[in-house]
Amino acid sequence: METLLPLKCWTRAQQHGFRIPQWTDPLAHEKFPGTNCTVLSGQKLSEEFRNQAKELAKSNSIKPNLTVLLVGEDPASRVYVSNKTKTFAQAGFGSHLIEVPAAEATTELLQKWVHKLNADPSVHGILVQLPLPKHVDAAAVLGAIVLEKDVDGFLPGNVGLLATGQFTGTLSCTPFGVMALLAAYNVSLAGKNAVVIGRSNIVGKPMGLMLLSEDCTVTYAHSRTQNLQGVCAQADILVAAAGQALLVKPEFVKPGAVLIDVGMHRDSAGKLCGDIDPDCFSKASFASPVPKGVGPMTIAMLLVNTCINAWGQGKAQ
Ligand code: NAD
Repeated sequence: METLLPLKCWTRAQQHGFRIPQWTDPLAHEKFPGTNCTVLSGQKLSEEFRNQAKELAKSNSIKPNLTVLLVGEDPASRVYVSNKTKTFAQAGFGSHLIEVPAAEATTELLQKWVHKLNADPSVHGILVQLPLPKHVDAAAVLGAIVLEKDVDGFLPGNVGLLATGQFTGTLSCTPFGVMALLAAYNVSLAGKNAVVIGRSNIVGKPMGLMLLSEDCTVTYAHSRTQNLQGVCAQADILVAAAGQALLVKPEFVKPGAVLIDVGMHRDSAGKLCGDIDPDCFSKASFASPVPKGVGPMTIAMLLVNTCINAWGQGKAQ
C-alpha cells in the first residue's frame, strides 16, 4: 500500500514512478527494546527505494550514472563515498570516482573537472564530497555544477525553488529522506510543532523548509539559541542536526514526540551514536536510530535524485 500523505516534496519523485510505502500497522513495527517507541527504519525504507529504482530502471533506456569528486584522504569521506558507490552498484547503476590528492587540488582544477562532467551527457549527477580542503573555495567549486546535475540539491537555484514552495528542483538528500521516513510511518505533520536543531544549508535549513511545506509550525534552534531544552520540550517533532554527540537528553523531549537523529559520531569506545541520547526513546512515540536511520535514507535519496535527473533529461521535470 502506498502512502496516503501527498507529500509536496515527493512530487517529482512520484512523476518518475517512486512511491512511498505506507507502514501503518503498529503491530508490525519494530520497537526500541524496553520501550513503546517505534523504530523509524531508514534501512528498511532505503532498501525499498533501491528496489523501486532497480525495477523502474527496467523500463528506462537511460542508466543513471553518478560521478563523485573526492579530494584528499579524509577517512570519513572515503567511507561515505564508498557507501554511496556501493549502493549505486547494488542497484545496477553507474558510479565513477575521481580522486584528487589534497596537495594537487586547487579551486581552478576542481572547477575544470566540474566543467568537464557538466559537458558529459553520460553523467547525470555530480557529487563533490564535502568537506573540501581549506585552501579550496568550496562554494566556487559547487557553484560550477549545472543545476540539472546537482544531485545534492545544494545549489542556490535548487534551494530557491524549495524556499518558494516550488517542488520542481532537486532536494537536499538528508532532509528529503527524513520526509520520506515520516511519511512511510504515517506520522502526521500538519499543525505540529517541529523544532530543527541546526541551521546548516545542507541539512537544517532545507529540513525546516520541507516541514513547513507540510504545514508544521517550524522553529530553528542553533548554537546561539537560549534555553535549548525549553525550546525542544515544545516539539512534537524534534530533528537533531547539531553535530553534537548525545546533545538531546530525556528532559528535552515532550512525551510522545517524534525524534529524528541526523547526527553521526563515534563514542570513546568507537561505537556509532547520534545527537540524541538513546535514553530519550522511552519518552518518544517514534525515533530514528543511529546507525540504520537517517544515514541510509540520505544515500537512498541520492539514488532517487540521480534517477530523476537521468530520466528527466529532455522532458519537463
Ligand atoms: P554543521 O556543522 O554545518 O551545522 C551544525 C548546526 O548545528 C549549526 O547550524 C549550529 O548552529 C548548530 N549547533 C551546533 N552546536 C549546537 C548546540 N550545542 N546547540 C544547538 N545548535 C547547535 O553540520 P551539518 O552539516 O548540518 O551536519 C549536522 C550533523 O549531521 C553532523 O553530525 C553530520 O555528521 C551529520 N550528518 C549526517 C548525515 C546523514 O546522512 N546521517 C548527513 C549530513 C550530516
